[in-house]
Amino acid sequence: MTTTEQTTTEQTTTTVGHWIDGARVASTSGNTAPVFDPALGVATKQVALASEGEIQAAIASAKAAFPAWSNLSLSKRQQILFAFREILNRDKAELAEIITSEHGKVIDDALGEIARGQEVVELATNIPSLMKGEFSDQVSTGIDVYSIRQPLGVVGIISPFNFPAMVPLWFLPIAIAAGNTVVLKPSEKDPSAAIWLASKFTEAGLPDGVFNVLNGDKLSVDGLLTSPDVESISFVGSTPIAQYVYETGTKHGKRVQALGGAKNHMLVLPDADLDLVADNAVNAGFGSAGERCMAISVVVAVEPVADELIEKITERAATLRIGDGRRGCDMGPLVTKQHRDKVASYIEVAEQDGAVVVVDGRTVRPDGDENGFWLGPTLIDKVPTTSRVYTEEIFGPVLSVVRVQSYEEGLELINSGAFGNGTAIFTNDGGAARRFQRDVQVGMIGINVPIPVPVAYYSFGGWKNSLFGDHKAYGTDGVSFFTRQKAVTSRWLDPSHGGINLGFPSNG
Ligand code: NAD
Repeated sequence: MTTTEQTTTEQTTTTVGHWIDGARVASTSGNTAPVFDPALGVATKQVALASEGEIQAAIASAKAAFPAWSNLSLSKRQQILFAFREILNRDKAELAEIITSEHGKVIDDALGEIARGQEVVELATNIPSLMKGEFSDQVSTGIDVYSIRQPLGVVGIISPFNFPAMVPLWFLPIAIAAGNTVVLKPSEKDPSAAIWLASKFTEAGLPDGVFNVLNGDKLSVDGLLTSPDVESISFVGSTPIAQYVYETGTKHGKRVQALGGAKNHMLVLPDADLDLVADNAVNAGFGSAGERCMAISVVVAVEPVADELIEKITERAATLRIGDGRRGCDMGPLVTKQHRDKVASYIEVAEQDGAVVVVDGRTVRPDGDENGFWLGPTLIDKVPTTSRVYTEEIFGPVLSVVRVQSYEEGLELINSGAFGNGTAIFTNDGGAARRFQRDVQVGMIGINVPIPVPVAYYSFGGWKNSLFGDHKAYGTDGVSFFTRQKAVTSRWLDPSHGGINLGFPSNG
């Protein structure tokens, strides 16, 4: 037996369990799902799918931890976040390896998602300022009014496969810093990053029960959505599930923010620098194998630039090294065989619908195991806007080109879409860019920037079918989502109080 076979055999017996009450918990549900190493194409582990009892145990642990945690001083909570930030930064290479082994993205990209998650940890270390209330002195004679923010209680986070560390970190640091306790249900496709985060929070001094990880499937999601002990749900995933989560959660009286899918357009005006555009189209279309909710999936080329731009993108796509993310490649595999086959099926749809497949990822020769879930960069020209290739989220390395005759036609196309997550305009005309930022019906806009993920102190979220709920992720929206405000009207009596007055309180 070779070393690889031994490792594989050993690893398949590993089952990723839960993290409850500050410790790893092996599941007794008997239900598991395979976790693949996408570059090897084999199941290297199993993940536990929680039973009803385990779901309730995770929620109960968070509930029991809430009184003490929410009463701990801001500065003590802040110190734990500082400690976690140092540990995360120290051990990020280890986390990147875990992400690559279950998701498939290349190591550099895994480090990139950790860095963006770390930004939110750093924001949350500022929780004393973020939670500050307001104070108005002497609103009426002898009366002051002020506001305070308090945590919600137990909060649920449900995350997708494509950012197993960053998406939990969009919510977790602010939720915890604000005094909430958490149950996180990660994607069953890459569950280990969440357990790693939990173990490092414990090392940083987080009390047991403040952060729990519940691995599972729909049963766990429904358990969180319907539990009377869970106050809010932060969800990120595909649009149909986001809508379901939003409707079910709100029906059960919860505060819900549910971020959904995307179909992001890049509008290229004729005056744009086409080398810059081509570089960015390749980076944003094929980075992380297109499995980013902010990936560019449609290039809207205002003629006459399309032919030249396609040539430049094609040249660049040919230089990309596709393969095992641990081998210094540019782009890794897709997350599962099923997902790879689904994405590849859109190339057939494009052919049937009369589009022109300029670069065909099905012919890729990867630097990796032949069983890996490979699909190379794919560029499709003249995609009809009635085709499913245009209307549906593909979530893979498939970049469509739609040719339009004017800025107005491009804008109308973008605004008529069902999603409104991200978009970008490439131009050297500041007036056109300003018009675009005002007119486009999308939540996050890049001007000569292809993946405009806002920094931590702004908030992340789209419009339309890309976000259900009123609150975006992190930034001031995050603080507002994870806290409830109280307004206090206060009078400390002095000898001049006015006696009985049955009139409605008014200023005087
Ligand atoms: P997904 O919707 O399949 O899964 C997301 C979560 O929902 C997972 O934890 C999963 O276990 C759970 N889930 C799956 N099916 C369920 C069901 N029937 N009932 C209840 N829960 C269920 O999404 P995914 O494939 O893991 O992630 C990719 C999707 O996420 C893409 O659509 C992408 O655009 C989206 N995404 C959006 C953003 C954003 O910020 N808008 C960010 C990242 C990913």
